[in-house]
Amino acid sequence: MLTSFDALALRPELHEALAAVGYREPTPIQAQALPAMLEGVDVIGQARTGSGKTAAFGLCLLNRLDLDLLQPQALVLCPTRELADQVGAELRRLAARLPNLRILSLCGGQPNRDQKRGLEGGCHVVVGTPGRIRKHLDTGGLQLSALRVLVLDEADRLLDMGFQEEVDAIVADCPEQRQTLLFSATFPEEIERLCGRVQHAPYRVSVEAQVAPELLRQMAFRCTPDQRHPTVARLLRAFRPSSALVFCETREDCEDLTAFLAHRGAVALALHGQKEQRERDAALIQLNHGSVSVLVATNVAARGLDIPALPLVIISELSPDPESHLHRIGRTGRAGEAGLALSVVAGARELARLEAIETFMGLRIERVITPDEGEGLSFLTPPNRTLLILAGREDKISRGDVLGALVKEGGLPPEAIGRLDLGRKTCAVAVAREHADAALRYLQSGRVKGQRVRVTMLS
Ligand code: AMP
Repeated sequence: MLTSFDALALRPELHEALAAVGYREPTPIQAQALPAMLEGVDVIGQARTGSGKTAAFGLCLLNRLDLDLLQPQALVLCPTRELADQVGAELRRLAARLPNLRILSLCGGQPNRDQKRGLEGGCHVVVGTPGRIRKHLDTGGLQLSALRVLVLDEADRLLDMGFQEEVDAIVADCPEQRQTLLFSATFPEEIERLCGRVQHAPYRVSVEAQVAPELLRQMAFRCTPDQRHPTVARLLRAFRPSSALVFCETREDCEDLTAFLAHRGAVALALHGQKEQRERDAALIQLNHGSVSVLVATNVAARGLDIPALPLVIISELSPDPESHLHRIGRTGRAGEAGLALSVVAGARELARLEAIETFMGLRIERVITPDEGEGLSFLTPPNRTLLILAGREDKISRGDVLGALVKEGGLPPEAIGRLDLGRKTCAVAVAREHADAALRYLQSGRVKGQRVRVTMLS
């Protein structure tokens, strides 16, 4: 088994990027899949978000590009824009040392005109959602004659979301001679059939059996149904995580619980399918920036999100579907980090759900006495706040420009600035909570790279 990236025949720029992003050892899916992928064979990967699958196919496709040929040579199909954004961000991180590499995002819900212009400028890699990609193929803006690698990411969700026809149409436009990599968390018959249609003698790898139970501790806490929300608050107080993800079954409960926790002093945000895309993006950015401590989410919103190293997941209401429970707890204890998943079990109905989950997973979940009532949740104040600057790469603004404006001109201490996410039209920057107001005031009155910018504080 591959234990180090050094043994892989990757371009030196990719080895450098791996060192720069701090990936020291391959994750199990990377260790199993990369050697075969780099030989050019088709691969089926059974793995979900959190396994490191993006870097696995990302390294493969970046390694195969001819940088002198400005034509789409790799295409990644994703079920949602959120996933496409995460894939694009991971590819850009890994491609940071490859000069002039162009990655284009083509997703629904974004202006067609900008995408057409992007295509006219040329690119090496396209990441996007099937509907929009097919549209660009139909209008002739996108051509796949130079394609070398096709990736179907979260293939089960692609089909669940009704993209079968689009996927088939897109595949029909790809050259016969290509490498096809397919990732899916589950393998119902339709996926097996899809693999048969789009792949050639695929090599199969699976990391599902390797969810390391020793890294993930589960506990269950019983209460009466009317005590569900107070029990979540007690668990947060007792376990004092730096951040946590809490799952609810319904959108109403998600909103109610968020309000309940916020009322007790936690900085909490709700994330569910009825939220606008903009609000969902903002919630995720803030979690990644350390600007929100508790994200309260429904299943719909929570699948496929890239939330690194979450120390604690609380399941406020057990799902009747044991597999869905597996997805939820998979949000903690990822990529080698220890995790903790706490389930609130309210009433007899949920006790039956807990038992069904135990049977499904083939293990017993420890029953623990619910901790006592205590003080408020004000310790759940995150260290940072996130400023959103309404200018980005398209305005020729770089990370250095934003850092320069805040530190050199605005006078903020460098250590007060955290993660900075530069997008096409926006730049989100994490600033230590005590300096956030000053940073906002400076950006509202000062300039970034000589330009006046619009800026807001996310909350
Ligand atoms: P993914 O399953 O692709 O969504 O990746 C899950 C998380 O693991 C992402 O936040 C990656 O940045 C991180 N990751 C991927 N590969 C590695 C690695 N070899 N070592 C450490 N972290 C990794």
